[in-house]
This record gives sequence, C-alpha cells and structure tokens, in this order.
Amino acid sequence: RRWGFGLFGEMRSAAARDPQRVAIVDEHRAVTYGDLDERVRRLANALRVEHGVGPGTRVGLLCDNSAYFVEAVMAVIALGGQAVLINTGLGNAQLETVAHDQRLMLLLHDDALLGLLAAMPPHLPRVAVERVDSLIQRSPTGVIEPPEHAGSVVVLTSGTTGAPKGAKRRNPAGLGPLATVVSRIPLSAGERMFVAAPLFHTWGLAALQLCLALRGTMVVTRRFTPASTVESMRANRCTSLFAVPVMLQRLLEGPGAIPTLKVVATSGSALTGPLATRFMRMYGEVLYNLYGTTEASWASIATPAELLSAPGTAGRPPQGTSVAILDEAGRPLPTGVVGRIFVGNDMLFEGYTNGTGRERHGDLLATGDLGHLSEDGLLFVDGREDDMVISGGENVYPAAVEDVIAELPQVREVAVAGVPDDEFGQRLAAWIALHEGEWVEPDAVREYVRHRLARFSVPRDVYFVPALPRNATGKIVRRQLFPR
Ligand code: ATP
Repeated sequence: RRWGFGLFGEMRSAAARDPQRVAIVDEHRAVTYGDLDERVRRLANALRVEHGVGPGTRVGLLCDNSAYFVEAVMAVIALGGQAVLINTGLGNAQLETVAHDQRLMLLLHDDALLGLLAAMPPHLPRVAVERVDSLIQRSPTGVIEPPEHAGSVVVLTSGTTGAPKGAKRRNPAGLGPLATVVSRIPLSAGERMFVAAPLFHTWGLAALQLCLALRGTMVVTRRFTPASTVESMRANRCTSLFAVPVMLQRLLEGPGAIPTLKVVATSGSALTGPLATRFMRMYGEVLYNLYGTTEASWASIATPAELLSAPGTAGRPPQGTSVAILDEAGRPLPTGVVGRIFVGNDMLFEGYTNGTGRERHGDLLATGDLGHLSEDGLLFVDGREDDMVISGGENVYPAAVEDVIAELPQVREVAVAGVPDDEFGQRLAAWIALHEGEWVEPDAVREYVRHRLARFSVPRDVYFVPALPRNATGKIVRRQLFPR
C-alpha cells in the first residue's frame, strides 16, 4: 500500500475493516472510523484546492484536544504535507519563534485560541478549525490521490529549557515498536482510551497512534478538569487513561472510582513514589510510568508492581529498546552509579527541523537526562543534566530531594533547584506548595531531608508558594522559580 502504515494509513485500514466503530469522542460529537475517513479525505481535498496544501507544505496546528485536531493532522499528512504541532501553552515570544523557525505556510487553529494569533506573522494564512465543517461540505469530491511521498509530523519539544525545538519524525512512524509497548501494558484491541495528555505533545500523539493501531476509541476534551474527566470516563466506559503526572495529582481531588479502568499510563515528567502510591490506593493497581523524550520516543516502562516495590522507578525498556548509562567519555557505568542516559531503538527521531542533530554514541541517542540502573535492571531518572546542582563540589540531583520532601503529608508539590552562592558556587533551594490549610516549618523540612539524604542535599532556602510554574505538558519551568 502506498499509504504506508502511518497515522493516515492506520486510520484507513480501520475504516475499511470496521467503519461503524467509534474512533473519536469529544465534547460535541462522536466520529466513526468510516466518517473519519470520509471527512479527512474531503478536508484534504479542500485544503489542496482552496489553500494549496500539497507535498512539503508546512501547516501549523494550534489546537487543543478535539476531533478536529485529528482530522486536520491526518488531512495534512494525506496530502504529503508537514503537520507542525504547536503547543497551545507557549508564550507569545515562543510562538513567534516557532512560526519563524518552522517557516509555516498555513495555520489551522481553534477559534478559542484567537488571543494567541497576535504572536503569529500577520501575512500567515489561517483557518479556524471550526470552519472545517463548511470546508468539508463544499469539498468537491471525497477522493484524493495518494502523494508520492508520505507526509510527516513535526513535534515540538516542550520548551522546558528554552525555545521549543522541532523534531522530525518519519511517517510511517514505526507502528511495529508500538506493539512492544503492549507487551508491558495490558492494552487490547478495541481499547477505550481517554487521552488527557495534549495531542500536540509527543505523549498525546503516541496515544493517538496506539489508539489507531488497536482500532480503539479515543475520548478527548479541550480542557482537563478532574471531575469532568472522571464523569466522561464513566459515561464512555473508558478502559485506559493517558495523562501527565500533574493530572494524576489533580485526580486525587476527584470523585475516584472508575469501574471499567484497567490502565493509567503517565509520562512527560517524573512520577514521584508518594504520588504513585496515593494514586493506586484510590484508583487501584493500574498505574504505568513511561519515560521517554520527543527525540528518542519511549525508553522504559514501569508496571504497577514495579512502582510499588521500587517507588519512583521508570521501569525497564520494552522489547527492541536499549538503555545505557554512560560516563562523560561514553563508557558504561556500573549499576547504582548515576550517569548520562542514552537510548537506542528504531523510533529515534531524524533530526531537528533546523538541520541540527543530537549527540549519539554508536546507535544510542543522548536523552539529556541523568539516571542509574538498580541491581535488577530497573531504571531511575535522576533529573536533567542541566538541572544537576554542584554545591561545594558535591553533585546533587534535585529529583531525589524532591522525592523525599514530597513524602511529607503537608506537601502538595515541590521543586528543588540550585541558586548561585558566593561560597559554594550553588546552594540548594526548595519551593513548596502546601495542601490547603496545612503548614510545616522550614526547619522541619530540612530536618526530614537531613535524616534521609547526604548533608549537602539539605535545602538551605525554603520558599512557600501557592503553586509551581508549569508548562502545558505539566513540567515545572525551573527558570521561572528563581527570585528576581
Ligand atoms: P526542551 O527540550 O524544549 O527543553 P523537554 O525536554 O521538556 O523540552 P520533552 O521531549 O517534551 O521536551 O520532554 C522529555 C523530558 O521529560 C525527558 O528528557 C525527561 O527529562 C522528562 N520525562 C519524560 N518522562 C519522564 C518520566 N516518566 N520520568 C522522569 N522524567 C520524564
């Protein structure tokens, strides 16, 4: 088949085999695979005829999770274009950079995000996805020719450490390796998945790919709230939830109990031991922690049993993936020793859209994270290389300190980072958001850490804040923590 096995090809074969099955449910409608196929082909036609989209056209997508998002991305791929998925949580300056760097030729956007368009170049043609229905109705025919070259998807990194980078992915994006995920997570054909993670992020996009490969049903909403998520999951009899850790934290405030729930998969940032335990107490032993990056795809998966016996673990690489912990010179480190995490699999990205790549060691790609392996081969992510604090010559990994402080029952969320210090080069500081009505003395925090970790891991400064600054994928933006 010339369509290949990418998003569009998977959708088409699902539509051929099972046209009546519901593919996507959002707040407004349910779309069957048959309808999705028809709508995508008509939309592709309209984009080609009315907006000149064809092979190589770079189309930006600025949309929150909805059925329109899926239709738009598939229509662009179907024409051989490049769908650039834009994070809707970016600030104006970052959006400007993205529009410029990605040399967008057309923008498809949610009407509700009109406010963000001010940051986009005024000459950039734009179409509100709410107008897609009228485009589809006007579209002359439902038939399009397959392009010579398959389209592709550009996923932006989260911009946690600076401007978001565009990562190019082959399309077809190896759906084979997706099957290896199922070897560690009990997802099955016809899975009913609630995808709360943003579809513009590599994690939400992976969930969409899984859904198509499993001929499943994907439930999405534009805004995440714990109450509406639980309600919708109950109403749609969802069997799995794809989320980021900060959403799990918020679900602890929700009404709980989703009878059909089998799997909760989380990724995108660290899952602390205490959060995993509390979550499983409330929702059952259903939690899976996936570690990965936009560039390397997923690298490891932890099962509920592993999360209970080794709190905070990121688990083991699935079949076909390897993880190595290397030192600065690229030599493998023994178990227990923290080093640079490298990943090898056949889902590695092709390079950034600006033509640059990322450090490799043989077939392995640098993740930019630090971590270690336990005796029995479990991976622990100790944080980003850039976040490591060197205080008085000692290496401190903020994630380890955060995990300990998060054990205090009064603490809702915590971030630890290094701040400049005249004497020690850097000193450790902690920013803590407490549960409502709770209080803990800074000294009690220091005392708690002192009993559990090395002396140099005790934060000198302790700040209390109402909430931590996070980006759209729920990651803490450390550079916004610092007192100016
Ligand atoms: P940028 O590269 O623009 O700064 P980013 O690195 O946040 O953004 P992503 O590719 O979205 O871009 O995020 C990947 C990073 O997220 C990983 O390198 C890791 O630091 C973190 N991460 C993802 N999943 C997990 C996990 N399960 N446990 C710990 N950290 C995780």
